[in-house]
Amino acid sequence: MACLRDGFNRPIKYLRISVTDRCNFRCFYCMPQEGAINRCQTDLLTYEEIALIVRAAADLGLNKVRLTGGEPLVRAGMVDLVRMLADIPGIDDIAMTTNGMLLATHAEALRAAGLRRVNVSLDTLRPDRFARITSVPGFHKVMAGIQAAYEVGLRPIKINVVVVRGVNDDELVDLAAMTQENDWNIRFIELMPIGQSTDLSENGYMSIREIKERIAVLGPLLPDIRGEFLDGDGCPIKANSLADSMADSLPNGPARYFRLPDARGTIGFISPVSDHFCFDCNRLRLTSDGRLRPCLLWDDELDLRTPLRQGATIDDIRRLFVEAAAIKPEGHRLSERKVPTGRIMSEIGG
Ligand code: SAM
Ligand code: SF4
Repeated sequence: MACLRDGFNRPIKYLRISVTDRCNFRCFYCMPQEGAINRCQTDLLTYEEIALIVRAAADLGLNKVRLTGGEPLVRAGMVDLVRMLADIPGIDDIAMTTNGMLLATHAEALRAAGLRRVNVSLDTLRPDRFARITSVPGFHKVMAGIQAAYEVGLRPIKINVVVVRGVNDDELVDLAAMTQENDWNIRFIELMPIGQSTDLSENGYMSIREIKERIAVLGPLLPDIRGEFLDGDGCPIKANSLADSMADSLPNGPARYFRLPDARGTIGFISPVSDHFCFDCNRLRLTSDGRLRPCLLWDDELDLRTPLRQGATIDDIRRLFVEAAAIKPEGHRLSERKVPTGRIMSEIGG
């Protein structure tokens, strides 16, 4: 099997696809309350275009796809897209990042169509605070979505918590304690200075080191051995790809996993700002309007949509993947205050 590598010899195995820039929430750190761009339907890649792009990616050895956005479940026909992608030879892992609001309705069909796992974003356990963060009083629906995902067998269930000082940092212990009774992976994520958060991160940012110190009251954080065999998104690394990954130094993703004594679930920490994981980044991103973006935190992109609509073949798309891999930067430069300016998070797919 071919293996696409970037200019720094990192294997590229993973494509994150923003299927829409629209969202039914307005998380204050992600999207503006008003004036979000909301691209028209023709700007978005069609599902057939996405499938062709994923076929080209699979030919180059990418085996993992994540659907994100915006909110992927607000785009009609998402179950059909999952089914189309699940049928592509070489794609053995399809995951989704969702705000969970519509998950209870779709979990069963998504699972049947071939989705394997979900990450659900949940920054608070307090319904009133949830409504303030997202602008939608949807806490109980999201909890029902998480429950439904668990019941239909989407595993592991991962909960993304973006930590913002002065907003939800007083809940870190409560959130971490949820893993004692629930077989969830709670992942604390540092606020990144992108889009809406470019200025907010000045005061709202909290490092993973400080987050760990806060939750230490719950007991020692024991490195989770299983986690060593999960990649950064909690996906089990298969025997053959494990060998690949070991050759390229384990693990190949941003999270690190821990377990509180006797807890059912695990805790992960994602530190894109304080301890970035660029050295083993294995991903490319596809924006909602069809640009291949080599790095979340870098503005460079390659247009796939225009060539596709002018009749590009799958060979042409493969060549564009190779080009995108070649311009993938070695790492972001947040420490030099170089932040991406071109887009908000929901267009790129967080
Ligand atoms: N709507 C879906 C959701 O909320 O899960 C998928 C898209 S959202 C952009 C993907 C992830 O990015 C979410 O977990 C969200 O919390 C995270 N995110 C958005 N803005 C962020 C920021 N400035 N820093 C860190 N994470 C951010
Ligand atoms: Fe929507 Fe997700 Fe952004 Fe919240 S984080 S506004 S749910 S895209």
